[in-house]
Amino acid sequence: MAEETIFSKIIRKEIPTDILYQDELVTAFSDISPQAPTHILIIPNVLIPTVNDVEAEHELALGRMFTVARKLAAEAGVSENGYRLIMNCNRDSGQEVYHIHMHLLGGRPLGPLLA
Ligand code: 5GP
Repeated sequence: MAEETIFSKIIRKEIPTDILYQDELVTAFSDISPQAPTHILIIPNVLIPTVNDVEAEHELALGRMFTVARKLAAEAGVSENGYRLIMNCNRDSGQEVYHIHMHLLGGRPLGPLLA
């Protein structure tokens, strides 16, 4: 059994968070330390620590993350200029929270992907 992170508390609304969307599969909220004018995290409600732990049973939630990303990008007004979706996996990527999450970044030119 994977250990819960702060994101489980956010899903359960146990800590104050700017929740932008929530349904039975996913939750989306503003990143606490935004790296761009729009910086949203979209997460499955089920605890999956890393992309290495993804199973077929998670496919519905993972697909929902993309439709919610599209919706929130439109609401944030970044669809036309564009945005970046990022998922980090494990240490070399810089993953800090071990509950998978999609970063939605936009609102400024984001530069080259690889640094
Ligand atoms: P990672 O580096 O794991 O891909 O990204 C974790 C992200 O979670 C970071 O961008 C960080 O700012 C964000 N984060 C960490 N703790 C919290 C929190 O308690 N609330 C919110 N809203 N974001 C958080």
